[in-house]
Parts: sequence; structure tokens; C-alpha cells
Amino acid sequence: MLIEFTGVSHVYPGSPRAVVQELDLTLTESRIGVIGANGSGKSTFARMLNGLIVPSSGTVSVNGLDTARKGREVRRQVGFCFTDPDSQIVMPTVAEDVAFGLRRRGLSKPEIAAKVATTLAAHGLEGYGEHPAHLLSAGQKQMLALSSILVTDPAILVMDEPTTLLDLRNTRRVVAAIESMHQHVILVTHHLDLLADFDRVLVFDESRLVFDGLPEKAVEHYLGLME
Ligand code: ADP
Repeated sequence: MLIEFTGVSHVYPGSPRAVVQELDLTLTESRIGVIGANGSGKSTFARMLNGLIVPSSGTVSVNGLDTARKGREVRRQVGFCFTDPDSQIVMPTVAEDVAFGLRRRGLSKPEIAAKVATTLAAHGLEGYGEHPAHLLSAGQKQMLALSSILVTDPAILVMDEPTTLLDLRNTRRVVAAIESMHQHVILVTHHLDLLADFDRVLVFDESRLVFDGLPEKAVEHYLGLME
């Protein structure tokens, strides 16, 4: 993975100031955490990683693809998991939702069914294929959202506070899923303990990257900002 931010700032239309300012950054590691106070720019940063937001100045490139010009190709490589799985579940049943992302990939029906079954089994949803998606528990919905992303095998997974709405047991399930993924993971979270084994943690404060380094030091820095 090679993600490069070059001179990136972002101002939302009508907003008085930039919410991400003058960011130059190269990301290559397998597990990268992102922390910071509410409103510090984490979500905006995360959304720039797959071209959901194109910066108002500067460039973001993912494996050589400029997100402003190659958004579709970028999104094939970068999956995005939101805090609220309901915003991401698009089909009535569990199996249909997972199969949705595989459409237009030239796979046969049996190939799709096999991939869906393997992915559901890997995320604790075996036997739930015909189940109405909206009737799943919050934890199961997050695992479904993850399944629907991972079935297309993106190289990179960006997760924006995926455990915020979950209890401890379901948080642990998401953590275990992250641990077993071969994808590069960029995780925005307020659950600092999830980042202990990460390769690198970015700390944002008031629209700027204020620390970039190992988890323990990053958490120390963040806690200092909160005093
Ligand atoms: P965080 O994820 O750290 O809470 P965000 O990136 O969501 O931070 O938000 C940073 C700032 O940008 C906040 O002040 C927020 O109100 C503002 N903001 C976020 N989204 C929009 C938007 N779509 N339009 C205008 N302002 C926004």
C-alpha cells in the first residue's frame, strides 16, 4: 500500500475554515490508527482515503491513483466501513447484501453463492443468509457490513469508528476480524486500547496532524491534549 497526501487542505463549502490543513503524509504500514477529539478532522481525513471527499487543495493518491480523477478505481481498492452499519446495508437479506458488491464482476451465480457463504461463515453469520438484514443485532449488522466490504477483497480497509455503537463482546468480534484480515487497515477510533499492536497512530487536533508515531506515545500525546 502506498497512500500519499501532498499539500492537502479541505474546506467544506460554506465553512469558514479548513477542517484538514496542510497535510503531507505517506502511509505504507499494515495497521494504522487515527485518534483525536471530536471535530478534529478524522472523518474528513478518512473519507479522503477512498475519494468520498476530494480535498479542496492538494492531492491524495492511493497506489498511484489520484482520488480526484480515479475515484472509481480507488474505491475498488479501498473499502470503507462506517460507524452505523444501517447506513451501509443496502439489500433486504443478509446474503443479497453481501452478494451486492460482487455484481458486475463477471462471476457466475454458483461462484457468487460460494463467496457469500465463505464470507458469512468467516464473520459469524453462517446460516443467516436468508435472514432479513434489518432484524440482525447491532453487532451482527456491523459484521454484515464488514462482510459486504471484504467479499470484494479490497487491498485496504478504512474504518470510521466501527465499534462506537457496539458493546464489549461485539467490539471484540470486530477486533478479532481486524486481526485476521490480510488487508491494510486504517482505523479511526476512540477506543484507544484497540491500537496497542498497531504499527503507527496519527493524532489529529484542531484540523492538524499533531503526532505521528507508535501507539503508546500517540495515546500519551492524545491524553495530554485532553487535559
Ligand atoms: P471528527 O471525525 O474528528 O469528529 P470531522 O472530520 O467529522 O471530525 O469534522 C471536522 C469539522 O468539519 C467539524 O467542525 C465538522 O463540523 C465539520 N464538518 C464535517 N462534515 C461537514 C460537512 N459535510 N459540511 C460542513 N462541515 C462539516
